Amino acid sequence: MAPSALVTGITGQDGSYLAEFLLAQGYTVHGLARATSTGNLERIQHLDGRVTIHEADLLDEGGLFRILHDVRPTEVYNLAAQTFVPTSWAKPVFTSEVTALGTTRLLDAIRQVDENIRFYQAGSSEMFGRAHSAPQSETTPFWPRNPYSVAKVYSHWITVTYRESRGLFACSGILFNHESPRRGKEFVTRKITRTAAKIKLGLATELRLGNLQARRDWGFAGDYVRSMWMQLQQDEPSDYVIGTGELHSVGEFVETAFAHLNLDWRNYVAVDPEFYRPAETVPLLADPSQARDRLGWQPTVEFEQLVQMMVDADLASLSQPLDTSHTDWLRKAA
Ligand code: GDP
Repeated sequence: MAPSALVTGITGQDGSYLAEFLLAQGYTVHGLARATSTGNLERIQHLDGRVTIHEADLLDEGGLFRILHDVRPTEVYNLAAQTFVPTSWAKPVFTSEVTALGTTRLLDAIRQVDENIRFYQAGSSEMFGRAHSAPQSETTPFWPRNPYSVAKVYSHWITVTYRESRGLFACSGILFNHESPRRGKEFVTRKITRTAAKIKLGLATELRLGNLQARRDWGFAGDYVRSMWMQLQQDEPSDYVIGTGELHSVGEFVETAFAHLNLDWRNYVAVDPEFYRPAETVPLLADPSQARDRLGWQPTVEFEQLVQMMVDADLASLSQPLDTSHTDWLRKAA
C-alpha cells in the first residue's frame, strides 16, 4: 500500500513544498486547510487534483478525529500555526489556541485513531529566544520571548510527552528561519525581495525596514521539508535542530537582493521604528550536527542563491501576475 500523509497547514510555504516532495516520493497526500484559507490556495494551485483538501482547523477536535479516521494516514505533519511574531502579540489567545493546544488536539486524535501513525511537529528556533549560548542544539534550553514561541515550546513538549509517555512515533523538528519565493510577504526576506523587485519595475520607490543589524540563520524551505520526512523514516523518533549554521544580517540580505538587481540599496532603504524589534544579544544560530550525522541531512541552497532565487521569482511574478482562476477543484472539499 502506498504511504499516505496528512499535512496541516498545506496552503502555507512549508506545506506546499512538503506536498510536492511527498507526491514525488509516491505518497497519497491529504491536506488540512481552514475554511478561510481556501481562498488562499495559490501555493498549491499547481498540484491541481493531486492532493485532497479537507476543511478543518486545529481548533476543531471533532473534525480532526473524523478526518484522521477517514483518511488513515501513515504520517501526519503538523505545519499549521499562527506563525508571525507581531500577530502573536495582537492575538495572543488565538495564537495559543492554534499553535499550542492545536497540537494536543491532533496528537490525541492520532492516539485514539491509530497509535502507529508517525507524527512530525514543526518547532521553531524562536523557542530558543533569549538563548544563553550560540549555536543552539537539541540540548540548548528554551527561553521563548513572545506568545508565538511560548506556544511552540508547549507544542514541542507535548510532542515529546506523547512520544515518551504514550509511545507515539513523534518528532519535533526545531527549524531555523527558512525562506523561499513562497514565504509570507510579512516576513523580512520576502518583504525585501518583493519590494526590491517592485522598485526595479518602477512600482515602488522605498523599502521601510526595522533593525538592519538583526541576524538570522536563513535556509531554503525546500531543503527543510526534506528533513521533516527524513525524521519520520528513522528507526527511532527524536528531535532535530535544522538550520544552515550560518548567520547573515538583514542588511546583508538587503544588499545582496538589491545588488542582484543592479541597484544601490542605500538609495531606497529607510529605517522605520514601526518594524523595529531589538536584536538578540546571543544570535539564533543552528548547530545542525545531529541532523547531519543521524539523518544525513544538509542544506543544498547557499545564502546568495536563496536571495537571488527569491528576487528572480518576485520579479517574474510582478511582471506577469499569477492566474488564480484554476482553484475550483480545491474548493470542492473532499
Ligand atoms: P522571525 O525570525 O520569525 O521573527 O522572522 P521575520 O522575517 O519576521 O524577522 C526576522 C528578523 O528581521 C527579525 O529580527 C526582525 O527584527 C528583522 N526585521 C528588520 N526589519 C524588519 C521588517 O521590516 N519586517 C520584519 N518582519 N522583520 C524585520
